[in-house]
Amino acid sequence: MRCSRLIRIVRLVFVLTGSAVCAAERPSIVFLFSDDLTTQAISAYEYGLDLPPTPNIDRIAREGMLFTNSFCGNSICTPSRGTVMTGLHSHAKQNGIVNLGGALDPNGPSWPKQLHENGYTTAVFGKWHMKTKPSGFDAWEVFSGQGNYYNPELFGPNGGRKIEGHSTDVITDLALAWLDRRDKSKPFVLMVQHKAPHRNWKPSLQDLKLYRDITFPEPPSLFDDYEGRVAAASHKMGIGEHMQLASDLMVFQTEEDLRVINRMTPDQRSEYVKAFEVENAAFQRQNPTGKDLVRWKYQRYMKNYLRCVAGVDRNVGRVLDRLDELELTKSTIVVYAADQGFYLGEHGWFDKRWAYEESMRMPFIVRWPGKVKPNTRCDAMVQNIDYAPTLLAAAGLTPDWNVHGVSLMPLLTSGGVAPQNWRDILYYRYVDRGHGVAAHSAIRTKQHKLLFYDQPRNEQEKAHRWELFDLNNDPTEMRNLAELSEHQETLEKLKLRFQQTREFYGDTDETVWQPGRGRQFNRDDYIRPRRRSL
Ligand code: CA
Repeated sequence: MRCSRLIRIVRLVFVLTGSAVCAAERPSIVFLFSDDLTTQAISAYEYGLDLPPTPNIDRIAREGMLFTNSFCGNSICTPSRGTVMTGLHSHAKQNGIVNLGGALDPNGPSWPKQLHENGYTTAVFGKWHMKTKPSGFDAWEVFSGQGNYYNPELFGPNGGRKIEGHSTDVITDLALAWLDRRDKSKPFVLMVQHKAPHRNWKPSLQDLKLYRDITFPEPPSLFDDYEGRVAAASHKMGIGEHMQLASDLMVFQTEEDLRVINRMTPDQRSEYVKAFEVENAAFQRQNPTGKDLVRWKYQRYMKNYLRCVAGVDRNVGRVLDRLDELELTKSTIVVYAADQGFYLGEHGWFDKRWAYEESMRMPFIVRWPGKVKPNTRCDAMVQNIDYAPTLLAAAGLTPDWNVHGVSLMPLLTSGGVAPQNWRDILYYRYVDRGHGVAAHSAIRTKQHKLLFYDQPRNEQEKAHRWELFDLNNDPTEMRNLAELSEHQETLEKLKLRFQQTREFYGDTDETVWQPGRGRQFNRDDYIRPRRRSL
C-alpha cells in the first residue's frame, strides 16, 4: 500500500513539475486581430498622415518589433483568415478559402490546433468568419458571420447568446474572463478577434465625442481619375458614389434610416442619435453636392472609422494591462495584426480587395520579451502565410503539414535583420469580385508591383491586362508603366517572375476559383447551419 502510494506521489510530482517546466519554456501566445484596421491608422507605422495616435497598439511596437513590409496574399476577410490559420495561399487545398463564401475545413490543419495537440490550452473569441465551428480550441465564442457592433450574438459549443454592449468591449470581456479561468498548468493561445473597424462603422458610445472638431487631411488621390488603370476605374467602392448616407455614415434623415441601428437598446439608440444630431441637421441644411459631398462623406467616414479604431486600441490596452497584472507579460508573445489593409480615401475608395499597397499591407507587430529586442523595426517582406510556421516555431514545432510560409524566427531574434537568402517576391491573387473589383493576381518585389487581370470583363480590360508600378518613384501607384516603351524590359522580366512565382506556389491558370459558396462540409460542422455568411 505504502509503496503504491509513494509511486502515485512521485508520479504526481513528475506531472506537476513536468508541466511547470513546459509552461516556463514554451511561451503563451495572445493573438490580437482586428478586421480592416489598416496600417495608415496605426501611429506606430509613422506615415506622417496626422491621424490620431493608437497608444496601446504602439506600446506593442515599442516593446517589440514592427514589420514595415507585411502583406496579405488575398485582401479580403475570409481568405486572409484562412491563410493566417493554415500558412497557405488561398488556392492550396488545405486552405481552399478563395473568396468570402469559403469555409475553413474543420478537419484540416491550423497552428492553434497543432499547439493544442502539443499541450497548449487554446481559445478564440469574436469574429471568426470562416463559417465552420472553430476546431482545436478548448473554448470558443464567436460570431456566426460578420457579427454586430451593438449587442452582438455569439455562438459557442452550446449554442448562441446575445450580450449587451459594444462588440469590441464584449469580445475583450470574454477573452479576459477566459484568461482568468484557463487551465494554468499549460501555456495558452488566446485569439482576441475584433469586428471593428469593419464597415458599417458604428463606434462605441464612449468614443462618439472623439474628433468632432477635427478636419482630417484628405489623401492626394481622393479624386483619382484612374488614368492608365482601366480595371481600377470600374469599381463599387467609391466614397462619393457608393458610400451610403444612412447605413455607412449615420446620416439619419427619415424614420426608415433609423433601421440601421435597430439592434440598439432604447437608451443606446437615443444616445447614438443625439451624438450625430447637430452635424446631421447641418448636413441637411447645407445639402452638399459634387466634390463637396465627397469631402463631407470622407470626413464623416474617417471620424467613425477612427472612433472604431480608438475602441480597438483601448481594448488592446486592457489585454496588455491584464497580462501585466497576472504577471504573464514575460512569458507571453503578443501579436497584433489585422486581416488586411483598407483604403482611407486613397484612390477615392473605402474597402480593400486590390493588390495596391494600402489594402495588400497588413499590420503585423510582435512583442516577445527576452527574444525580440524592444522598439525594433523589420523591413523584410513578410506575408500572412508566415504566421503559422512562426507561431509553431515559437513553441519549438514545425507545421505537421506543408505550408507556403516560412518561420520569421530569424527576423525576430536578429533585431529584424533578414538573412541573405530572404524572399524578394510576394504572390497575390484575388477572385472574390465583390464591390465590382476585377479578379487579379500580382507579384510584389521591393521595388515593383505587377498586376495581371486574370479574367477581363470587357474588351477594354482585355487590352490592358497588365499594370506595372515602380514603388520607389511612385509609392501611391498612380502611374502604370506597363504600356510605356522604356519599361518593356522591366515588364518582361517581371512577367517571367510572375509565372515563376505562380508555379512556385503551385497555382495555375486552371486553378478552380469557384465563385459563390465554396466547399461544403457536414451540416453539424457549421456554426449556424442554413444561414448565409454575410
Ligand atoms: Ca477584413
